[in-house]
Amino acid sequence: MEKVVIIGTGCAGLTAALYAARANLSPLVLTGTAPGGLLTTTSIVENFPGFPEGIDGYELMTRMQKQAERFGARVKFGTVEAADFSGQPLKLSVDGDPVETQTVIIATGASHRHLGLESEAKLEKKGVTYCATCDGALPMFRHQPLVVVGGGDSACEEATFLTRFGSVVHLVHRRDQLRASKIMAARTLSNPKIQPIWDSVVTEVLDVKQDTVTGVRLKNLKNQAEIVVNCAGVFVAIGHVPSTAVFKGVIDMDENGYIKHRQGTATNVRGVFAAGDCVDPVYRQAVTAAGQGCAAAIDAERYLAALSQ
Ligand code: NAP
Repeated sequence: MEKVVIIGTGCAGLTAALYAARANLSPLVLTGTAPGGLLTTTSIVENFPGFPEGIDGYELMTRMQKQAERFGARVKFGTVEAADFSGQPLKLSVDGDPVETQTVIIATGASHRHLGLESEAKLEKKGVTYCATCDGALPMFRHQPLVVVGGGDSACEEATFLTRFGSVVHLVHRRDQLRASKIMAARTLSNPKIQPIWDSVVTEVLDVKQDTVTGVRLKNLKNQAEIVVNCAGVFVAIGHVPSTAVFKGVIDMDENGYIKHRQGTATNVRGVFAAGDCVDPVYRQAVTAAGQGCAAAIDAERYLAALSQ
């Protein structure tokens, strides 16, 4: 039987793996379908402490994995298909194989909600991005018109942040009122570099033929009129989807599927801890996820120590 199974290999999962491994718990770490997590989808990470020149997201995650493995973490490809947490041991089904364990750290992360357009997928990393904090300062966006899609706090935050780099930021929202908190909405709408485009949705990201973003085609939902807005970048900020579906009905979550903590990183199930973007709808930063991963490993270690007393 395993002592610790960590589900997810983003910043939270791999930091939990490092700490659990250094506590001699030889954790089994399951990658899920997106090894390395969301950071591998971004180019340069410039806000992870310790890398003054920035570091490629994929490289950062590869290094984290190596560091955890150096101390005995066992990273394996595998996706959890079902969880039975009705008693001890905790039971998981991983790609059809049963795994029994004393503790589980859920670090399954979240994925950016996508618009769902073919052109969006084709131009990802070629001007389409889901993280202004990660990508906004890239040279390709500097002094260029940019588009942010969404009307929530994230979209407002991204748009405001991008005014430091872009010549103008068009905020495209499908309604005529922002969902964002009043203070954030007011700050956004009073920024002279942010131009809202109301009641509109992106129907196509241009230009797949040129293999780079040159603009967006928008449709006004009230009068069906179509326009093209030129831009060098499209920042999609229409929310996140926590990757927690497999634990629904087993682990307590809020109405959006984010796992709820009870005490520290503990969940409602004894021996099950959670960390990172699957828990956190607010900060969602690599460094905060890593911090929670560390805390979850310490909580799991203390839980195991108490069991053996
Ligand atoms: P959100 O509040 O769920 O907003 C998502 C926005 O995207 C909404 O305006 C929504 O439009 C729009 N949207 C959703 N699906 C869409 C689609 N398919 N096409 C076009 N537009 C679409 O998500 P969020 O902004 O990421 O915020 C999530 C949570 O984190 C919130 O609780 C927020 O307050 C919090 N947050 C806080 C801060 C902060 O305080 N600094 C910063 C970021 C996030 P509708 O409005 O029409 O539904």
